[in-house]
Amino acid sequence: MITGIKGFNDILPGEVESWQHIEATARRVFELYGFAEIRIPILEKTELFCRSIGDATDIVEKEMYSFVDKGENSVTMRPEGTASVMRAFIEHKLHALDPVAKLYYLGPMFRYERPQKGRYRQFHQIGAEVTGVTDPKIDAQVLTMLCHFFAELGLTEPALQINSLGCPDCRPAYRESLKAFLRERLDRLCDDCRRRYEANPLRALDCKSAHCKEATADAPAMLDHLCTGCDDHFSAMRRHLERVGTTYSINNRMVRGLDYYTRTTFELVTGLLGAQSAVAAGGRYDGLISDLGGPAISGIGFAIGLERVALLLKEKEFTRRPDLFIAALGDEAQDEAFRLMCGLQKLGSAIEMDYEGKSLKSQMRRSDKLKSRFTLILGGDELVKGGAMLKNMDAGTQAEVPLDIKAIATHLNP
Ligand code: ATP
Ligand code: MG
Repeated sequence: MITGIKGFNDILPGEVESWQHIEATARRVFELYGFAEIRIPILEKTELFCRSIGDATDIVEKEMYSFVDKGENSVTMRPEGTASVMRAFIEHKLHALDPVAKLYYLGPMFRYERPQKGRYRQFHQIGAEVTGVTDPKIDAQVLTMLCHFFAELGLTEPALQINSLGCPDCRPAYRESLKAFLRERLDRLCDDCRRRYEANPLRALDCKSAHCKEATADAPAMLDHLCTGCDDHFSAMRRHLERVGTTYSINNRMVRGLDYYTRTTFELVTGLLGAQSAVAAGGRYDGLISDLGGPAISGIGFAIGLERVALLLKEKEFTRRPDLFIAALGDEAQDEAFRLMCGLQKLGSAIEMDYEGKSLKSQMRRSDKLKSRFTLILGGDELVKGGAMLKNMDAGTQAEVPLDIKAIATHLNP
């Protein structure tokens, strides 16, 4: 039997419907914002990716599917879409028609990585790019469109994180101060970060190794070193995001894995996919078009990982979360838990308990597995008191509640 290649997946009937839904949603939402589709080839000259993504990046250093074809040309199966879209934009002089282009694409990308859940060698991206607008309103618009897409899919996860990487005016000085900081701690960094210290010191900030995280915990942040232009751009973008109700948090350690980014960078991050936490990512690339031989026009864009979105949707279908899990220790507490559970269910809340009265540890494990929003722990003391601690599992907060069905219901659904 001949099998498929590791990291290259078949998408079978049963799952393909979810893919079609994601793709159709992207097309519908992006078109509302004025984006037109562009289809770019899978194979490009290797040089395109080396020049744009950068030599000292994971993609170019170790992830590219490059080979020499029968005509002795070095070609690469595209690892991402932005470089190709910009190559086409320049090659076909789209900027002569209108420097402001809004383009989206979707299709397979190829990276030689270690396959695992949410990380494959052939994977799919839906991406969007805007050229020719420097005003921070476009940054806010692109981010708002991205969040709109996820909201249309009914996903409240993932959450938007933003940062600024500065520009060629302010980043070099920051880079030097970061290097000075890292120099003192080189022996605590992983091999990759030590090797990249000269060419790409910023990568140490988002390295996944625990040692690097610890060693760089109080490293200087780009956000504190922005020049006036970049600082104003960042504040204006935040103001626009707030005005239109696009929620975000600032992650000043986000550096992204591609060299072409300037100023705004962002990720949509989930807690549901382990180490594969970025579901979409992107940023502004004001120097890329001119670096590739085009005019000095700015750009901004993102790419969404389709497999990761499909995994989130699956997660959503299968996890109907209980509102409350009641853990009860001892027969009397079990009886009281049962009474509360039935009463709360009648009032419309989804409640779970362990009917067999297992150990507290095993009951809490079950509550975790079910991803219940709240937990209530009942033991002898609580029965005597007539009250117990209601713990909000998402917020990590807790409140004392009486053992009264209506009172608990108000806490579950305020
Ligand atoms: P990661 O840190 O997970 O490696 P990345 O920074 O390399 O991600 P980008 O190059 O920014 O990812 O690509 C944008 C999106 O494409 C990611 O947020 C992710 O959802 C998806 N993606 C990237 N690489 C893979 C892969 N090998 N398999 C599946 N999806 C991927
Ligand atoms: Mg990667």
